[in-house]
Amino acid sequence: MGAQMPADLRATLNRQHPPEWAVACPLPYCQAKPGTPCRSPRRRPVPLGVHPSRADHYAATLAA
Ligand SMILES: [Zn+2]
Repeated sequence: MGAQMPADLRATLNRQHPPEWAVACPLPYCQAKPGTPCRSPRRRPVPLGVHPSRADHYAATLAA
């Protein structure tokens, strides 16, 4: 059971520093390091600064 929040609320709370930044992004085409925002394959910023997979990875880390 993952923490689900409305995207707009999440963006408001985490505009500066999404907690997901604590972990690296697992996506091969992104591989954002901890503390850095996710990027699309074209190196554009992604919404919220994190990919959904990174959020899942972060949630898994918390659950472990
Ligand atoms: Zn990413």
